[in-house]
Amino acid sequence: MLDELERLQKEVVISISQASTEQDISEIRVRFLGRKGSLTQLLKRLVTLPEGDRREIGKRANEVKEDLEKKIEGTLLPIRERERREALEREKIDVTLPGRRILVGRRHPLTQTLDEIIDIFSRLGFEVVEGPEVELDYYNFEALNIPKGHPAREMQATFFISDEVVLRTHTSPVQVRTMEKKRPPVRVICPGAVYRCDSDPTHSPMFHQVEGLLVDKGITFADLKGVLTVFVRQMFGKETRLRFRPSFFPFTEPSAEIDIECFICGGKGCGVCSNTGWLEILGSGMVDPAVYKFVNYDPEEVTGFAFGMGIERIAMLKFGINDIRLFFTNDLRFLKQF
Ligand SMILES: [Zn+2]
Repeated sequence: MLDELERLQKEVVISISQASTEQDISEIRVRFLGRKGSLTQLLKRLVTLPEGDRREIGKRANEVKEDLEKKIEGTLLPIRERERREALEREKIDVTLPGRRILVGRRHPLTQTLDEIIDIFSRLGFEVVEGPEVELDYYNFEALNIPKGHPAREMQATFFISDEVVLRTHTSPVQVRTMEKKRPPVRVICPGAVYRCDSDPTHSPMFHQVEGLLVDKGITFADLKGVLTVFVRQMFGKETRLRFRPSFFPFTEPSAEIDIECFICGGKGCGVCSNTGWLEILGSGMVDPAVYKFVNYDPEEVTGFAFGMGIERIAMLKFGINDIRLFFTNDLRFLKQF
């Protein structure tokens, strides 16, 4: 057993000399001095020895134990010291290094434009409502006075999902859905994505519209002119000249398109306005009584007006952008300018 003690002591000394971290030391402590450690096991066996041997070997074993404890403690201190030094070294910060610039995100120009449109109409008492992009033919066409076979369907190159289901070609179906649910007065704007089978510098197969609807007792074309004039002047500037030009939409009668004076050439004529001096910005009109029939409103009792505009078109005019596709290519060099 004395030999065993000697061997154990040597083993510990070798282990300690190879230890380099606090973790190593604590493992050594467990391995030899822990409850199941080899020295502890050996001490337990002392009781099996004859009386005389027991005292002698017991004394020796306790010396070895104390010695090992001291050695372990003694090794631990310098290791802790070194680990601390290394940690400090690792975490050293060079305060003279130049800072790293944080790139700040920003809102997409279309979002900025839509937010501004919503802001203006909110202040005029309009509420924002939304509807599905995959829409029934009924809401997209029929309830808007565009029955099957109507020539107006040809004007909107439609993505059909099935005979009765389409990707909405405008946000007008939201107006119908709103009137189905709510009795007048109705005062809403409907922003959202719409789809048409069309692609060139001024047309995208997916684009965004905001439409508006106001229905109440005694609403006239004068209200339409008033509301839309306020909108145009807040959007494009107080001095903006605008004109109402007769037009046709199946769901409004009479209908008018609104042009603003070209702010590039000041009305003299240029490439942007196709030499007309005017830029078309939105369509509008008094809601056709035929539409009320679909939502059980009494055209003898209420009247109203509707309008719609392309958000891309407004943003292109406001920011002087000449290709609609730039909005959707996610080129940061483009997006960073707004
Ligand atoms: Zn012009």
